[in-house]
Amino acid sequence: MIKRATGMYEHFSRNGREAGDDRATHYCAGCGHGIILKLIGEAMADLGIQNDSVFVGPVGCATFCYYYIDCGHISAPHGRASAVATGLSRVLPDKPVIAYQGDGDLGAIGFNNAFQAANRGENFALFFVNNALFAMTGGQMAPTTLEGQVTTTTPYGRDVVAAGYPLRVCEVFETLEAPVFIERVSVADTKRIMQAKKAIRKALEIQKEKKGFAFVEILSPCPNNMREDPVKAAESFTQIMEKTYPLGNFKDRSEKAAPVPKNVPHKTVKELMAGGKETVPMKYNPSFRERRFKFSGFGGQGILSLGLVVAEAAASEGKFVSWMPSYGPEQRGGSASCAVRVWAKEIGSPTVDDPDVLIAMNQPSLERFAPTVAKGGTLLFEASIKADIKSPPGVRVIPFPASAVANESGVPKASNTAFLGAMTGLGLLPFSEKNIKDALAESFSAKPALVEPNMRVFEAAKKWISDNIN
Ligand code: SF4
Repeated sequence: MIKRATGMYEHFSRNGREAGDDRATHYCAGCGHGIILKLIGEAMADLGIQNDSVFVGPVGCATFCYYYIDCGHISAPHGRASAVATGLSRVLPDKPVIAYQGDGDLGAIGFNNAFQAANRGENFALFFVNNALFAMTGGQMAPTTLEGQVTTTTPYGRDVVAAGYPLRVCEVFETLEAPVFIERVSVADTKRIMQAKKAIRKALEIQKEKKGFAFVEILSPCPNNMREDPVKAAESFTQIMEKTYPLGNFKDRSEKAAPVPKNVPHKTVKELMAGGKETVPMKYNPSFRERRFKFSGFGGQGILSLGLVVAEAAASEGKFVSWMPSYGPEQRGGSASCAVRVWAKEIGSPTVDDPDVLIAMNQPSLERFAPTVAKGGTLLFEASIKADIKSPPGVRVIPFPASAVANESGVPKASNTAFLGAMTGLGLLPFSEKNIKDALAESFSAKPALVEPNMRVFEAAKKWISDNIN
């Protein structure tokens, strides 16, 4: 008597109806998927992990695995099961996470996801079903297709000169340090199924003990696309596939491997974003008018830091704010800019196309962005720049000698701070001066000796504005 599979649903709501049995899967006769899912379900039940496990299904013939194995399921987009399993295993470090992918799914579109997960030693079990083609979509060539194999997209057989060589995933993963267990098995006949059962169980034991990345490649016939009856398909699978994909264990360090630590130390969002300080909750303020800033100049002039100080000052008053940098190709000397939006409510897009305030610290950015300033806005630029300025009518244009102010204050590199002082003096920043200065001081928290000199520049810039503009 055939033992009733455990770990599976009592009735399959998607089933092979022609078999007249609601516990028959929908897979074609002779397909390996049904056998593999049964082996996984049984092992999960035997190990007592079924109620806790999350199974990440692929796109392909195995998509409907959630109709069969009785555990938690998530369906991943094509090729992304390893990426989804990575996320799950990190947020659910105590739960067994199991990913299942075919060779089109893992070997082609999702290879980098799976490879990088293996290289990081992510804490999940990955079952990789290799039938040497894209099965669900009609038998196209996959990276695992054998040399000379006829598929719908290689009608004359896979030509390795044009289409490359079959991808041996176990052999590739074997080169990596992190995986705990790698084995290739087959479900083409009873003897092989018994070996597959052991490998699947081993991978799930490793996952039960949360010891890291376990990988089992399973050679699985696809009689439908091989255009063979199930018995012949299984025979040719053992005779042909195993020449390219030899069965066996490639790595097993499960005895020595320790459970992966659950809580890898990391900084909280508060620590990352506010240096450990309490952040001010953002408040909706319908009377506050949106302000859009663009800061631009050469990389290395402190453009991005200037934008950050403005953004920090806004955040410290509970205003909604976004800061978006744009880098030139060079670290120094190329153009850089950043956009800052401050508003009374959530900001949908951080881009600024028509700033209310434009700071231009070099000629290319002055020429590029001056025409974009919004009507009624302000263009404040480095006065030493010789440029033909084309700003729209209704824009206030102020040449400001930021580099001279910074120089005379003894801090030649602080032109950006001079612009901050100038904006404050002109009343362009809708925040308290205390919060602006606090944000400026905070920006030098790693170099406290620079706080006082920059405050000098800030005050000198405000004085220049007071003496010459207001
Ligand atoms: S097409 Fe192939 S892989 Fe898909 S269910 Fe049928 S036999 Fe299985």
